[in-house]
Amino acid sequence: MRLGAHVRQDSDPIGVGERLGADVVQLFVVDPQSWDKPQPHPKAEQIRNSGIDVVVHSSYQINVASLNNRLRMPSRNAVAQQAQAAADLGAFGLVVHGGHVRTDDAVATGIDNWRKLFQRQEDKGGFGVPILIENTAGGDHAMARRFDTIARLWDAVGDYGAGFCLDTCHAWAGGEKLIGVVDRIHAITGRIDLVHLNNSRDEFDSGADRHANLADGTIDPQLLAEVCRTADAPVVLETPAVGIADDLAFLREHL
Ligand SMILES: [Zn+2]
Repeated sequence: MRLGAHVRQDSDPIGVGERLGADVVQLFVVDPQSWDKPQPHPKAEQIRNSGIDVVVHSSYQINVASLNNRLRMPSRNAVAQQAQAAADLGAFGLVVHGGHVRTDDAVATGIDNWRKLFQRQEDKGGFGVPILIENTAGGDHAMARRFDTIARLWDAVGDYGAGFCLDTCHAWAGGEKLIGVVDRIHAITGRIDLVHLNNSRDEFDSGADRHANLADGTIDPQLLAEVCRTADAPVVLETPAVGIADDLAFLREHL
């Protein structure tokens, strides 16, 4: 099993990964709060050649589902640019949050906007890496919070080779129980490409997205270990930096 963490110090991801003893690291290729265009990474060659696997998390502004052209168009561009940057680093995927729309009536259009992202890129030869759609914790009109909506989304994007990233904090805080979660997602998507293994500071179905270290949250840590054991996918911790070494040690002990 490949275990690792999101690396916040993006200038030396492999060095940080080595110090943690990680098998996989996740990084941003731009300031995640920005619409910046990715620049070539100064350590691209080291990242490509490292034995540590790499996955890229896209920036937070991206909302592929949006009905607002002025948000959706830059989002499409950013996904394409960041997927290319991920390919340049030899990454195995680009994680993109499911996004949201503003009303219940708009959900079908939001899902179709996801389909169009893939369809339009297919005409240009596809993305350089698989796009891994991540479930999210909050909002009433999210594309990937409730699993019934994820099922609708997958009917639209599954045939384009979309991948799935399961975040345990987001599922729990989003109101989806973690017992049997791997089987329930597999029944919908047929795949889990990556696990974001996080505990939650907030209660079940709170809608809040605040990650906690594995032993510190409202989710039973044994349930988190069970998700790792059954998901058959790389595992990335996005927990507070101060406890990441302890989180890795807990996983190595319980897997
Ligand atoms: Zn996540």
